[in-house]
Amino acid sequence: MFKRLVESQRTDISITIFERNKKLGAGMPYSADGANDEHITNVSGNEIPLLVTTLAGWIKSVSKDTLNKFHIDPTRFNEYKVLPRLLFGQYLTAQFDLLQKRAREANISYEVHYNSTVTDIIDNPKQEVVEVEIGGRQKFEFDRVIVCTGHNWPVRHEGTVANYFDSPYPPVKLALKCDHPVAIKGSSLTAVDAIRTLARHNGTFDKDENGKLSYRLLDDSPNFKLVLHTRNGMLPAVRFHLKDSHLSNNSVLTKEEIAAHIAGNNGFLSLDYVFEKDFKAPIRDIEPEFYENIKDMTMEEFVAAMMELREHLDPFQLLKAEYAEAEKSIKRKKSVYWKEMLGVLSFALNYPAKHLSAEDMQRLQKSLTPLISIVIGYIPQSSSEELMALHQAGVLELIPVGDDSTVAPAAEGATYHYTDEAGQQQAVYFSTFIDCVGQPHLGFDDFPFKSLLTGRSVSPARLKFRSAEEGRKSLEEGKDVSVDEYGDYYLRVSGVAINDHFQVVDDYGAFNDRIYIMAVPYIGGYNPDYSGLDFCEEASSVIIKRLTA
Ligand SMILES: Cc1cc2nc3c(=O)[nH]c(=O)nc-3n(C[C@H](O)[C@H](O)[C@H](O)COP(=O)(O)OP(=O)(O)OC[C@H]3O[C@@H](n4cnc5c(N)ncnc54)[C@H](O)[C@@H]3O)c2cc1C
Repeated sequence: MFKRLVESQRTDISITIFERNKKLGAGMPYSADGANDEHITNVSGNEIPLLVTTLAGWIKSVSKDTLNKFHIDPTRFNEYKVLPRLLFGQYLTAQFDLLQKRAREANISYEVHYNSTVTDIIDNPKQEVVEVEIGGRQKFEFDRVIVCTGHNWPVRHEGTVANYFDSPYPPVKLALKCDHPVAIKGSSLTAVDAIRTLARHNGTFDKDENGKLSYRLLDDSPNFKLVLHTRNGMLPAVRFHLKDSHLSNNSVLTKEEIAAHIAGNNGFLSLDYVFEKDFKAPIRDIEPEFYENIKDMTMEEFVAAMMELREHLDPFQLLKAEYAEAEKSIKRKKSVYWKEMLGVLSFALNYPAKHLSAEDMQRLQKSLTPLISIVIGYIPQSSSEELMALHQAGVLELIPVGDDSTVAPAAEGATYHYTDEAGQQQAVYFSTFIDCVGQPHLGFDDFPFKSLLTGRSVSPARLKFRSAEEGRKSLEEGKDVSVDEYGDYYLRVSGVAINDHFQVVDDYGAFNDRIYIMAVPYIGGYNPDYSGLDFCEEASSVIIKRLTA
């Protein structure tokens, strides 16, 4: 957002940044709040939107000591490689410095307040200003506010229940010796972060002369084990060669085409239309053979077919096979196109998702989202190698727990309750439990800036049912459905309502010209795709257009 403001060259505005920490740029995932030395990004330089200098160019300026610490050889570094998150954080901080330099050169006025936590935001419609409260005391007044507070993992039991962790972040807390099985909820990238840390504190990885990784437990952790629990017993797919960032894919529907479709479809975006145009159509041109197989499939049929492939295979066998497929894809610099397009579809759906009918949103959540989260939450190569080595050593296993499992905190750790594949009820106690489901979509009531709630400047995100009949049915099924004075039914989705420009919207549907929000946990209902650097790039480009119009 700061880059956009600087590029606008507007010398008639002044910018104030309030940052809770003492550093800009690294944010949560790329600082000690979200990473240790062993944690890596899931994207490579070529997928990262350009800030000021390229990652490959910046690497050349990094001191030898730092590069050695992260085992980076600058002569072998290329833009298709993932990299240590803490190193990437240093890049982001350096880019922020360069942007500040640019702002000074362009005479754009800005100030940075470090160690300054925003505790409340108070809208003042009459005066057309917004107050920002820092540390519960000081207040500053602005014409416009952009909320970029990013990730937040609510604490539910951590701190009161010993060895129960609501998230693996900050990961320094997982520097634990565990001579016992550890329960992990989830199997995607958040779980991989926890695995990478715990594995290193309870054993060692070694590479043989062929580069094959193996794992050995430490003498004082002979009973250490990692037990992953997932609904469907699947691991995410392995990262392959990706052509480019989602943003540079120009085979998807334009904003104008989407707007015209919505206008001609009673105000709704059709999920089937987006599936045809943003997924099947580009595949037809690039992978005609794959297209032949899927061309007559509905979205649900396509998802079922792809899931079936995974359901019949042991997840660790599949990991091995996908790792081999990905090796080939990387060597040949050839993407696995349908998987890449699924990422593109998810990204493309993110922005207009608020125009889906409630019926289509429920289809998206039930059918496409689970496939997307498996296929596009790519596990990088080195993490895949570690998972295979851990499994080979008998230290890592995956338990399918179905949809109705529960986790009950104990005096220490937790008990996992689930129905196993044979239909038997299980209650398994673990003295250490880590919730690794990833950034949750937070609810309306979790919104942290309470004056915006009490002043009704923000409203809960909701989607209209196309059919009142379907709305009534969902209401009877106990879903969070409301009816308005016209008899229209609405499904409540998570977070606050925003318009297409990321401006908050009140109960009457009126947008607020002063307050923008791009903090993903609080807009998850209307922006269901996972956040990433491409999201930051896209959302800030939309906001700056409106802000400087
Ligand atoms: C563990 C992890 C790894 C990830 N890895 C990748 C990846 O490899 N590639 C990718 O594209 N995406 C990745 N992501 C997605 C990630 O969301 C984005 O890449 C990006 O970091 C989001 O940036 P952000 O500025 O919105 O949020 P954040 O990075 O969370 O930054 C928010 C900033 O706001 C500050 N802040 C928060 N609350 C307040 C407050 N009340 N007052 C003042 N300051 C406040 C924080 O200190 C922080 O500096 C990852 C996410 C996670 C959680």
